[in-house]
Amino acid sequence: MDVLQSHRAEMLTIAMAVMAIGVGTAYYFYVTKKPKGCLDPEKFKEFKLVKRTQLSHNVAKFKFALPTPTSVLGLPIGQHISCRGKDSLNEDVVKPYTPTTLDSDVGYFELVIKMYPQGRMSHHFQVMREGDYLAVKGPKGRFKYQPNQVRAFGMLAGGTGITPMFQVARAILENPSDRTNVHLIYANVTYEDILLKEELDNLSSNFPNRFNIYYVLNQPPEIWEGGVGFISKEIIQTYCPAPAPDIKILRCGPPPMNKAMAANLESLGYSPEMQFQF
Ligand SMILES: Cc1cc2nc3c(=O)[nH]c(=O)nc-3n(C[C@H](O)[C@H](O)[C@H](O)COP(=O)(O)OP(=O)(O)OC[C@H]3O[C@@H](n4cnc5c(N)ncnc54)[C@H](O)[C@@H]3O)c2cc1C
Repeated sequence: MDVLQSHRAEMLTIAMAVMAIGVGTAYYFYVTKKPKGCLDPEKFKEFKLVKRTQLSHNVAKFKFALPTPTSVLGLPIGQHISCRGKDSLNEDVVKPYTPTTLDSDVGYFELVIKMYPQGRMSHHFQVMREGDYLAVKGPKGRFKYQPNQVRAFGMLAGGTGITPMFQVARAILENPSDRTNVHLIYANVTYEDILLKEELDNLSSNFPNRFNIYYVLNQPPEIWEGGVGFISKEIIQTYCPAPAPDIKILRCGPPPMNKAMAANLESLGYSPEMQFQF
C-alpha cells in the first residue's frame, strides 16, 4: 500500500512537472514570438475592405480586415506597401501607400487616401466599396527605424506625405523606451487639406515635450496662427533640430516640394547623412 501511494505521489509530481514545462514553453513562445505578418514581398495578397469613411470631399479612410482578428500586417516602421488597382481605362496601376495603423492595431489596417480627379490609382479607390478586395504587396522601402537611433527627427511633410511621418511619430511616441523627439512641419494648400489633424493634435497634447507640430498653409483662413506660403529656410531653422550627427530630417511630399526642401536643407548645412526622403 505504502509503495503504491509513493508511486502515485511520484507520478503526480512528474505529471505536474511536465504540465509546468508545457505551460512555461507555451508562455515563452507567446511572449517572445512575434505574430507572423500577412504581407508577401513577392506576391500580391487580397484584403477585404470592411469600412470606408469619407473624411472630406476627396479624402477617405479605408479599413481592411486581416485574415484573423489577431493577425498583424507585419509592416516595419517607416516602410510602405504597394497597392494594385485599375484605372479608369481598366489598366493595372500600382502605387505606394503607408498605413496609418501599426502592428499594435491587430486584425486590420487602415489607409487614408486623397483622391485626385485625374489620378489613376485614385480612380480605383474612388469606386471601391465595402466588401471589395485590394491587392497588396510588401513591405517596401529603404527606411529602417530602430528606437533611439537619433536624438531627434525633423519632419517636412506635404499633403499625403504626412502618412509615413504619422506612422513613424506614432511608433516613437507609443514606445515607452524610445526617447526620440519629433519636430514636424506639415504643409498644405488650404486648412481643409490638412490630413489626420485630430490625430496629430492629440499626439501633440499627449506628448507636449516630445512632439511639436507647425502647420504651414498656402491659402490660410482669415484667422491663422501657423505659417503662410511654402516651408522656408527660416521656418526649418525655427522648428527643426539644428544640423548635428545625431539628428535626421525626413521629407515626404510632392516632387517639387521635395526638391525645394532638399535645397533648403543643404543651404542650412544639413549633410546628406542627416536627411532621408521617403
Ligand atoms: C512612400 C509613399 C507613401 C504614400 N502614402 C500615401 C498615403 O498614405 N495616402 C495617399 O493618399 N497617398 C500616398 N502616397 C501617394 C500615392 O502613392 C500616389 O502618388 C497618389 O495616390 C496619387 O496617385 P494616382 O495614381 O491617383 O495619381 P497620378 O495618376 O499619379 O497623378 C494624376 C494627377 O493627380 C495629381 N497628383 C498626384 N499626386 C499628387 C500629389 N502628391 N500632390 C498633388 N497632386 C498630385 C496631379 O495633378 C497629377 O497630375 C504615398 C507616396 C509615397 C511615395
